[in-house]
Amino acid sequence: MALEWPPLYDPSYVPPEDQEYWDPALETMPPQERDALIVAKLQRQAAWAYERSPFYQKRWGEAGFHPDQLRTLDDIQRIPVITKEDLRQDLLANPPFGSNIADDWQNILRVHGSSGTTGIPTIIAISKGDWERIGEAHARVEWGAGVRPSDTVFMAAPFSLYMGAWGMLVGAERMGAKCFPFGAGAPGQTRMAVRWCLAAKPSVFYGTPSFCLYLAETAREEGVDPKEFGFRTLFFSGEPGGSIPATRRTLEEAYGNPVIVDSGSTGEMSPWMSNGGCRHASGMHLWQDMVFTQLIDPTTLEVAPWGGEGVPVYTHLERTSQPLIRFWSGDLASWTDDPCPCGRTYPTMPRGIYGRVDDMVVVRGENVYPSAVENVVRAIPGLTGEFRMVVSRERTMDELTVLAEYTPEAATEAGIDAVKRQLQSDLGATLGIRSNVDLKAPGQLERTQFKARRVIDERDLHGE
Ligand SMILES: [Zn+2]
Repeated sequence: MALEWPPLYDPSYVPPEDQEYWDPALETMPPQERDALIVAKLQRQAAWAYERSPFYQKRWGEAGFHPDQLRTLDDIQRIPVITKEDLRQDLLANPPFGSNIADDWQNILRVHGSSGTTGIPTIIAISKGDWERIGEAHARVEWGAGVRPSDTVFMAAPFSLYMGAWGMLVGAERMGAKCFPFGAGAPGQTRMAVRWCLAAKPSVFYGTPSFCLYLAETAREEGVDPKEFGFRTLFFSGEPGGSIPATRRTLEEAYGNPVIVDSGSTGEMSPWMSNGGCRHASGMHLWQDMVFTQLIDPTTLEVAPWGGEGVPVYTHLERTSQPLIRFWSGDLASWTDDPCPCGRTYPTMPRGIYGRVDDMVVVRGENVYPSAVENVVRAIPGLTGEFRMVVSRERTMDELTVLAEYTPEAATEAGIDAVKRQLQSDLGATLGIRSNVDLKAPGQLERTQFKARRVIDERDLHGE
């Protein structure tokens, strides 16, 4: 297939507001045809990386892989995966950018820091062409979520090391939407957000679900009904809550039934947008022609079947600077090729990203995901929705304690007792194990300013 690579996009193109798709041909392409396009892009991307990146020359040389071996999409399995630890080792050996710049230094337009968890400063260099393609990718996915040029987008995520916020901004700007880069995480900023949302009446909220819940709670404390903001769309990333049913219901009630869309991939791929849902609440579509994603079974290392669960492994298809080819995210998701009413022919992760291989806690042999506990806690009317999970060990037995808060309405002795019993029984039914419940008064658990940290594993602290 003859292919222009890296692809050039017309920066003046914007579809009419009532058009469903940003790029109808690419988004509704028959999957086999798309596979041929992906192979063609992958061949060029891999050859580019092999020619210019010492990181890939070394790794692929050791693994006996050469880009010439890529003939069909199945051949991608010949490429060794890259883990966070691989990137960390490369950064330690080649500070501060690592050995994977893969583009001429004079082409670099932006230098960012990563909020990733490698434990050492990770500096990201992004070429001018990549920045434009990031804008194009975000604009397409944001359009799929229903964002339009006539919208005002309130961006409540930190504009510092969190790359997702920058991607959202460049995509919304590319489309011509009105952008309000407000930020998040500074002391007092949530109260300010209430005032600014009332004043500016933005139609789209962008940020994490937990911050969006906190914003609603803060508004009520200020005597403001969050419905008054008039959000038409809540566009989430950074956390799984946008795909958790009970969290979605709480947000729908708080904000007066806006469209809720979940998006996002993983910090290392960011700010390239590749996973994002549509208004039909079917989950997150995988926009395979921009970033190719496979779910890999963590035990067999084979591609998971449709309906199966696996670790998303991501491959950039149009990145010249620091391309990641088969990056092992460590997240967990399931996927399907079921059609979506929106007509896009991409695979879908129906429950979004619901856990991490390393966030999941094993309690008495059962896999426990924070997202499952969240779904239980948020479905009980007498609870505020805030929670923590503490895993400890008594002698040889694991103990799971869920801390939650009763609402002011439930704050009688009988009310608290009833809520406690319901939480205990619902947790048991969902998790398959008995857990302890510790109910606190409203407001006792600290609220998140950005991304929530909900699991405290005390077994680790005792250094087993
Ligand atoms: Zn859809």
